[in-house]
Amino acid sequence: MSTFSGRTAIVTGGARGIGAAIASALVKEDISVVIADLLEHDGTELARTLGPNAKFCRLDVTDEANWNAVVDEAEAVFGPLAILVNNAGILDFGTIDTQSPAMFRHVVDVNLYGAWLGMHTAVPRLRANGGGVIVNISSTAGLAGYAGIGAYVASKWGLRGLTKSAAVELGAAGIRVCSVHPGPIHTPMTAGLGDALAADQPLARYGEPEEVAAMVRFVITEASFSTGSEFVLDGGATAGQALPLPDAS
Ligand code: NAP
Repeated sequence: MSTFSGRTAIVTGGARGIGAAIASALVKEDISVVIADLLEHDGTELARTLGPNAKFCRLDVTDEANWNAVVDEAEAVFGPLAILVNNAGILDFGTIDTQSPAMFRHVVDVNLYGAWLGMHTAVPRLRANGGGVIVNISSTAGLAGYAGIGAYVASKWGLRGLTKSAAVELGAAGIRVCSVHPGPIHTPMTAGLGDALAADQPLARYGEPEEVAAMVRFVITEASFSTGSEFVLDGGATAGQALPLPDAS
């Protein structure tokens, strides 16, 4: 067990997909987890499956009052907060000229403002509790540009930058802040996108939520000298591009 054994974590978007895998991995580390999500049925069911060290709380990450209530509830039920995983996120497809202004704002609101609000709410508690770890789930879309998902890309680059600023601000308080950058992962978010999305990567497959959870668990429990760092798991997608080689004969 790690130094975080017995401590308290909040995982946003924790009811399904990558967040659910992270919640499960942390409970296995003897960490108490608040599964914070809009999806009440899935979240309650997951908490029941994980046992007494897990609890579901309804959270809209864009709502400041809701954040305050969830952090209060987490500490009341499980004790001082030590870990925040900002995982909740949404994806919308639309080009620069076709995406509606309202949808652009909504994507940035959930993916970037929601994570900022989580840190804004949790940091005073982490300071008071002697430190902690924040993991922000960005994406390969926070490392490169992709056509047709400009709002998502902007939000994930923003989250990567916010992570670095927070790391610089909070290191002296014993709070580490890192970003995790998955490539295509099998979850409801990518359902229906097809195998072609991963076909050109060096590892030509989707990743699984448990592979992301293993990275997040490592960042929290093992990577004690890392802050402001990017942890990439993308099957090599951002490593480079295969070029046609000249004929050697
Ligand atoms: P997912 O299966 O769609 O799960 C996301 C969860 O976040 C859902 O339960 C969703 O609830 C919740 N959520 C959405 N808006 C919320 C809000 N305002 N407040 C609280 N919860 C909210 O997605 P996923 O694939 O597991 O993705 C998790 C994170 O990984 C996201 O940040 C995503 O951008 C990132 N990521 C995913 C991939 C991938 O290939 N899957 C790759 C790179 C990065 P609702 O269903 O009610 O909206």
